[in-house]
Amino acid sequence: MKITIIGTGYVGLVTGACLAELGNDVFCLDLDQRKIAMLNSGGIPIHEPGLAEIVSRNRAAGRLHFSTDIAASVAHGQIQFIAVGTPPDEDGSADLQYVLAAAANIGKYMTGFKVIVDKSTVPVGTADKVSAAIQAELDARNLSGAPIQFSVVSNPEFLKEGAAVEDFMRPDRIVIGCDDSPAGQQAHTLMKQLYLPFNRNHERTYWMDVRSAEFTKYAANAMLATRISFMNELANLADKVGADIEAVRHGIGSDPRIGYSFLYAGCGYGGSCFPKDVQALERTARDYGQELLILRAVEQVNNHQKHVLGQKITERFGPDLQGKHFALWGLAFKPNTDDMREASSRVLLRELIDRGATVAVHDPVAMAEAQRVLELDFADDRGALQRIRFCDNQADALQDADALVIVTEWKTFRSPDFDQVKARLKAPIVFDGRNLYEPQVMRDIGFEYYGIGRSVLV
Ligand code: NAD
Repeated sequence: MKITIIGTGYVGLVTGACLAELGNDVFCLDLDQRKIAMLNSGGIPIHEPGLAEIVSRNRAAGRLHFSTDIAASVAHGQIQFIAVGTPPDEDGSADLQYVLAAAANIGKYMTGFKVIVDKSTVPVGTADKVSAAIQAELDARNLSGAPIQFSVVSNPEFLKEGAAVEDFMRPDRIVIGCDDSPAGQQAHTLMKQLYLPFNRNHERTYWMDVRSAEFTKYAANAMLATRISFMNELANLADKVGADIEAVRHGIGSDPRIGYSFLYAGCGYGGSCFPKDVQALERTARDYGQELLILRAVEQVNNHQKHVLGQKITERFGPDLQGKHFALWGLAFKPNTDDMREASSRVLLRELIDRGATVAVHDPVAMAEAQRVLELDFADDRGALQRIRFCDNQADALQDADALVIVTEWKTFRSPDFDQVKARLKAPIVFDGRNLYEPQVMRDIGFEYYGIGRSVLV
């Protein structure tokens, strides 16, 4: 099938590459010329396991094209995926300017029936706005003859960064919302055909109305964020009462009604989705006169949790960190990605630097992106940035640090050479923001260890 993907970011590039891998002829559009030039010269703008191979294979086979040419992109695909960003607006609502601009472009150039798929995470009711934006452009063209038909479908994406290719190729579920107009039924047929290869073993597609599909994405992310904040809040209490949140996690996760997923306590969730989607759902509710009390708390707990490592450091070293030097392992908001959006490391770095510390940082893949993002974070204070040293490897970052602080649970941090860690650090102190290590084992080998919710009384 001929497919166009509008927006070649994490979701668009993975969607385009994976659909090409299944034999479709895919045209990826982006307005960012630098990104398209990089893709056309064999580069990949993001770190995502397995993606480079798929992109290169399908480019070579002539099934995957990258371009900034809007008219050509509209002409190419009978199905047009909108996968552009939906960042938070100042009031927390999803900023739909990129989605609606993409929709308007389709209306400007389309000459026959198209299915427009909202792949971006968009609030309930957005499909209607996308339809209106397309129709307005069609009307402005004063076309003669029969009206050009189209249908807007909601097909939210559930892939996880760091496992995006795997998630796209083997999805738990595919959610598709269509309306039941004649154009909607035609869209249903085309979407069914497109996703057929994913449903061979068993049906994974949940067909529903458009609004329910839009809502499903927010409900899923809100639920996952809730589980994390719930555990973080309990972890903070565990620290006070002298219980081990990891033991508690096992104790409750074994109940199949609860399950183990997303129950890890830590130093807060980040990324491009949970923070903004929780806010956007709260905002949608407010627009309808309802307050989502649970989600307000989820957000508050998470904002607080990003400061928990800073608090533990204060308790240990005092508020003034002049002359103190820390090693920080992990900058990306989670492992296997270079995405720094809303990463907890940024909050902690701001705090440590503002309080006078110096920090040596290392991340296995996010170093370049971290440098770019931190330059923006500290644009108001260039001198502060000088106090962050970017280290090529995790061992170098340890040298003469007063403590090691872990923010991202990369696999390579799980079993380091602890003798080397101890030898390089000025003092054997570890603040473990992801509970990678066993507190008792760490104490046994001579570390002063601080986890999240693990201050069990011994
Ligand atoms: P991204 O910022 O990585 O990529 C968006 C791309 O769209 C950018 O390259 C930008 O240049 C391009 N763009 C903007 N306007 C355009 C236009 N009019 N025409 C063509 N290109 C345009 O964003 P992302 O992380 O891929 O997220 C995209 C959407 O998918 C968001 O709504 C997000 O919430 C959702 N989502 C993201 C993830 C994730 O893990 N990143 C997972 C599921 C859903």
